Amino acid sequence: MPESNAAWIPPEAAAFIAAQAERFQAMTLDGLDSELHRLVAAHEQLVDHDCINLYAGTNIPNPRGTALLGSSIGSRPNLGHPGAKYNKGMRHAEQIEVMLSILLQRLFKARFVEHRVGSGSLANLYAYMATCRPGDAIMAFSDAAAGHPTHHAIGAAGLYGLKVHEVPFDPAHMDIDANGLRDAAKAIRPRLIIMAGSMCLFPYNLQAVRTVADEVGAYVLYDAAHMGGLIAGGCFQQPLAEGADLMTGSTYKSFGGPPSGMILTNNPELAERLDRIAFPGLTANFDLGRTAAMVVAVLDLLEHGPAYARACIANAQALAASMDRAGIAVFRPGARDGFTQSQHVALVATPYGGGNAASSRIEPANILFTSIGLPLPPVPGDANGIRIGTQEITRWGFQPEHMATVADLAARVLVKGEAAENVRPDVIAFRRGFQKIHFIRG
Ligand SMILES: *Cc1c(COP(=O)(O)O)cnc(C)c1O
Repeated sequence: MPESNAAWIPPEAAAFIAAQAERFQAMTLDGLDSELHRLVAAHEQLVDHDCINLYAGTNIPNPRGTALLGSSIGSRPNLGHPGAKYNKGMRHAEQIEVMLSILLQRLFKARFVEHRVGSGSLANLYAYMATCRPGDAIMAFSDAAAGHPTHHAIGAAGLYGLKVHEVPFDPAHMDIDANGLRDAAKAIRPRLIIMAGSMCLFPYNLQAVRTVADEVGAYVLYDAAHMGGLIAGGCFQQPLAEGADLMTGSTYKSFGGPPSGMILTNNPELAERLDRIAFPGLTANFDLGRTAAMVVAVLDLLEHGPAYARACIANAQALAASMDRAGIAVFRPGARDGFTQSQHVALVATPYGGGNAASSRIEPANILFTSIGLPLPPVPGDANGIRIGTQEITRWGFQPEHMATVADLAARVLVKGEAAENVRPDVIAFRRGFQKIHFIRG
C-alpha cells in the first residue's frame, strides 16, 4: 500500500488511508483483533446478504469449498510434482492435485491443465511466458472492447516487455473485425492474439482468428476469466475446440470457486513450458487449500454447470429487457438480436454521468455495479459504460420473473432520481427472500 501522501494515488484514497491508519495506530492489540473480526463479518453481511450484487466479476462460492480454504493443508509447503515431492509427509495431500487435474480436464475437455497459478492475471503472465519473448508483438482487445489491463502495456503484458497492438473490433456485432484483423496481423506479425476481455456479451468469431493466426504464425489465447462457468456449463463458445491454443481463467467469477487461476491447453509443448513455469519457475509453495476448494467448485459445475449457465443467461436476458422497459439505457449492439447471450449486460453510462459515477450513486441502495469501456463516445474522466453480471444473483436463486423488481429498484435511482438511501430498505427486504445458494452440491 502506498503512503497516504503518495502523489500517484487518487486524493480520496489518500484521505481514506490517512484516516484509517491514524485510527489503527491508536488501537490496542485486542482492539485491533476484535475490529478485524467485526470488519469481516460486516462485509459478509453487506455483500453476501444485504446487496443485490450485480458486479460481473464476483460470485458466492460453495461454503464447503470456503471451509477447505481454512485447512492447514494450505499453509504447508508443497513443492514439486505429485508423487515426487521435495518435502515429505505429502502422501495424502498430493493426491488432491491429481484429483483437481483430472476433474478440470473432464470439465473443459482439455488435455492439459495448469492450476498452480494464483490468479487469472498470473495465468495470463504464464501464458505470455510460454508463448512470447520480451519485445515480441501481441494483439489484444482495447479498453473500448473490454480488454483487460493484464493484456495491455500497464499490466502483465507490458511488464513482461510485450508490445501491445489493438485487435480491430466491430462494435455493431461486439466481435472482432475479421478482415481488419487479417490486415493488421500481416503488418504487425504478432506472436500471440488475445481474445475476449472483461465483458463478453456474445461469443467471438474464434475460427476467423485461428485462420489469421495460422497465416501469420501466432498463438491464440482466449481469456475466459469471466466466462469460465458458462464455458464449463457448455452454454458459451468452447475456446479450445474452436481453435484457441490456450485458455486462461479466473476461478471466482462465473466459475464460482475460490480466488485462483487456471490455464488449459491441448498442446503438449505449451503444457511442458507451463509446467516448468509453474514449478520451479514462479511457484515454490502453492496453496493446497485452494486446490481442495477448487475440487468442490468443479464438482458443482460437473453436476449443475449446464443448468446454472442456462439460468445465468436467462436472467441476464430478462434483466436487460426489464431495465430497457424501466427506462434504463441498456446497450444493444446494432447488428445483433437482443442485448446479450451471456451472463453480462451493458448499460450506456452517458446519461448517468459515467460508469463509475453511476455505480457510486447507486451503491448506497445496496445495488452493486461497475464501470466498463464500451465502443461509444467517451465520457471525460470516467468510463462510458456500466457492466452487470447475473452469475451471483442466479446462485442466490433469482429467476427471470424477479428481474422486473431488480430493474425497478435500479430505475428508482438511475431514472427517477430517488436518493439511493431511500431505496436501500426495499433492496434489503427483497433480498431477504434469496438466502440459499443454488447450483451447488450440498
Ligand atoms: C478479472 C480478469 C482477469 C484477472 O483475474 P484475477 O483472477 O482477478 O487476477 C484477467 N482477465 C480478464 C479478462 C478479467 O476480467
